[in-house]
Parts: sequence; C-alpha cells; structure tokens
Amino acid sequence: MKKNDEFIIDITDVTNEGSGVGKYEGMAVFVPLTAVGDTVKVKALKVKKTYAFGKLIEIISPSIDRIENDCEAFNKCGGCVYRHISYEAECKLKENKVYEVIKRIGGVDMKPQPIIPSISIYGYRNKAQYPVSGEGKVGFYAFHSHRIIPCADCSLQPRIFSKIVAVTEDWIKENNISIYEEEKHRGLLRHIYLRLAEVTNEIMFTAVINGDKLPFADRLIESLKSLCGENLKSVQININKKDTNVILGDKCEVLYGEPYITDVLCGIKVRLSPLSFYQVNRTMAEKLYEKAAEYAKPESRNILDLYCGAGTIGLSMAGSAKSIIGVEIIPEAIADAEFNARNNGIKNAEFICGDATTAANDLKKRKIHPDTVIVDPPRKGCTPELIATITNDFSPEGVVYVSCDPATLARDIKIFGENGYSLIEYTPVDLFPRTSHVETVAILKNELPMA
Ligand code: SAH
Repeated sequence: MKKNDEFIIDITDVTNEGSGVGKYEGMAVFVPLTAVGDTVKVKALKVKKTYAFGKLIEIISPSIDRIENDCEAFNKCGGCVYRHISYEAECKLKENKVYEVIKRIGGVDMKPQPIIPSISIYGYRNKAQYPVSGEGKVGFYAFHSHRIIPCADCSLQPRIFSKIVAVTEDWIKENNISIYEEEKHRGLLRHIYLRLAEVTNEIMFTAVINGDKLPFADRLIESLKSLCGENLKSVQININKKDTNVILGDKCEVLYGEPYITDVLCGIKVRLSPLSFYQVNRTMAEKLYEKAAEYAKPESRNILDLYCGAGTIGLSMAGSAKSIIGVEIIPEAIADAEFNARNNGIKNAEFICGDATTAANDLKKRKIHPDTVIVDPPRKGCTPELIATITNDFSPEGVVYVSCDPATLARDIKIFGENGYSLIEYTPVDLFPRTSHVETVAILKNELPMA
C-alpha cells in the first residue's frame, strides 16, 4: 500500500477514539467517520510499516448502525466521535471496549454489568470551556490540535450557553478585547468557562485571562444580566498567566454576584466554585453515585472517599453511613465540601485537603480502618503506593473504584489483584454520549478477609 492508493475495505472494529478500523493487504487501516459493518472506499493518507490512516471516499454499503449526523462541526471539533451511529450501537460499543481493556490490561476476563445509558444525549452537559480565537470567535479545539473550530451551538451543551457565547462575541468585538495568542504567549482573553446548575438554573460565567483585569467588564455583565436575568449568579475572572495548555489558573476574582453557584445532586445541595470539580452530566452522575452506593453498602459503615472533589459522592451516602472522610487536593473544592456538609446538616463528614497518596499515609498513622474505600481519581488513576496503603493498611472490606479512564482502571485492578483485592463486578455508565468517553464503577473485595 502507498499514499493515495484507493481500495475497498470492510470496517470491523473501532478504536478507543472512535475511528473505524479495517484491514487491507494484512494491514490495519484507521478510517474516521466509518462504522463497524460499513463497506467503504478509502484513500490512504499516511502509510506506516504496520498500519495506515485512510480517508473515507465513499460508503459502498452502510452499517445497520448508521444514522444521519446532525452537527456541522462533527469530526472537526474534538468533541463527538459517534454522531453517525445510533445511541444503542454506541452503548454496546462502549460496554465492549471497557470489557476488552479490563481483560487485556487488567488480566480479568469478566463481562461487565450492562452499561447504564444516558437519559439524554442532547444538552446533557453543565459545563463548557471555550477557547477564544484570534478573530474573537468562541469555539472548541479540533482533534489533537489547538486550532479553534467555531461551534457556538453545540448540541451537547445547554441552549443558554450558545446565547451567552453570542453575547460574549459581541462584547469582544464592540470593545476590541485583546485575545490571547498561545504561540506568542501574549494577549488577554484565553477561555470562556461556563457552568449551569441545572436544578436551580444558576449560571456562572468565568473569563480566563492572562492578566489581572478584564476591561469593559461592566458592559459584559450588563449584557449577561439582560440575557440571563436572575439566573446569572456569578461572573468571575480566573487568572492564568502561565505559558501552559492547562486551562485554569489557581486564582479567581468575583466581578459580579457570588463566588459560587449551587446545584442539587442526589438530594444534596452542592455549592461549587469555578475550581471545584463537578460531574458534567448531573442526571447521570446521580445514576453513577447510586451504583457506587449499591457497591459501597454505606449503611452504618465508615467510608473513606478519596479524590472527593466538592464532597459529592461521600455526602450522598452520609445519611446512612456511620462516618465519611473525604480527601481532595484542590483547596477550593475542600472548602466547598465542608460547606456542603454543613449546609445539608451533615455532621459525620470530615474533609482533608492534600494529595491522596500523602493523605492516606497520614491517615494510616491514625490507624483508621474504613469499611469501604471509594476512589475516583483523574484519568491517570491511582499511584501504586496509594493502592498498597489501601490494601495493606486500611484493609477495607470493599474498594469502590469510580473511573473516567478504563485503561488506568484496568491497570489499577491488576495492582489491586496483586495486593489481594479481586474485581467482583463492574458497570460502565455513560455520562458522555456521542463522545469517546465512558465512566466505569467497579467493586473490588478482599479475597482473604481478616479474621
Ligand atoms: N469524586 C468527585 C471528584 C472526582 S474528579 C466527584 O464525583 O465529583 C477527581 C478529583 O480528584 C478532582 O476533584 C481533582 O481535583 C482531584 N485530584 C486530582 N489529583 C489529586 C491528588 N493527587 N490527590 C487528591 N485529589 C486529587
């Protein structure tokens, strides 16, 4: 095979990133925008030794999973990868991907419980972080790139976000606001970060800036107020002067309203500051937490909730648990967690700000023996040291692992296994319809319960 060759192949698999895969002359060919079951004509774009990348030229015979894509930015912006197949097919595929990775990397051949599909596949997100382009356009990054694709009207976002984007673009233009240029590390406005508390309708607007002041902020606030009315609860700047692709800096300043918005999750009022993590799909986070609770069996138990964010998982179980200890590295999130406990009349929860591995080491000295440990780490997963502390020192009956990355979950399941904790059951939960992402919750138990 050489570059620009055209040939016909059957698509038989899909990558974790959503690209279709077929075989030609014994070589794997990756073809974006194709679906398992398609027969397609492909043009080779890049040919490596053992694999190639191809471009879809023509669908000779479509997969039965195919549906009409309804978004102009599909395959341009870095968000959705499954707008061309049915949601049922997407769920099957995600369930199978999680199974395969747990088998291959985790070394456990166990079928998952059926994936819990998202109740809604449109407008399910409550958060957007839009980069701002040189022309003052607000959009999303393209795949694996920092090129900005205009997509104000993203169908995964709530409708109000596109209206806020439009108002912001007008304000940028009318006031000639300086835009951040990544390559030169100069200019002011980097990102527009929006959050909606779905239950209360409260809106938080944060401008991420490479500077200390937002010029003409009063004009922006007036426009936002006339668009959102009472629902506009918080306008802030986040200061990020670093030459980095990390979106948020660590300092925020309120320009209007409150430093927080409040949502309701599993019956708990949750106060959120811009720097606190919050699941982007609230409705499905409730389903995820219900499953976590089913696995954690919190009734009259001592629970350790590691990587707790604003405390949400632990607090949702505090009513029936004996005690909750939450650990989280972001100080603002811990402040929110402590407030959330008080604000919900929860008295059996304690929160510790620090790195999970270090904090677990400190807790070890307190000789705590939680009945259940919950971990919900970022994509990189847990450290082997943390896993050893959990299994050897805390020795809980069960470990509930909530994961946004099946590969690191699988890697950690293997390490837990080497430390005597086996995978008992796991359930994928789809918090991110139409994208390649999927959440998984697993229960691991000590094979050799202590006498
Ligand atoms: N359980 C929470 C948050 C999960 S996201 C929820 O369901 O909402 C993962 C969290 O881990 C984030 O809040 C992040 O700030 C935190 N985190 C990242 N690295 C950490 C570390 N080394 N130690 C402790 N917490 C960390």
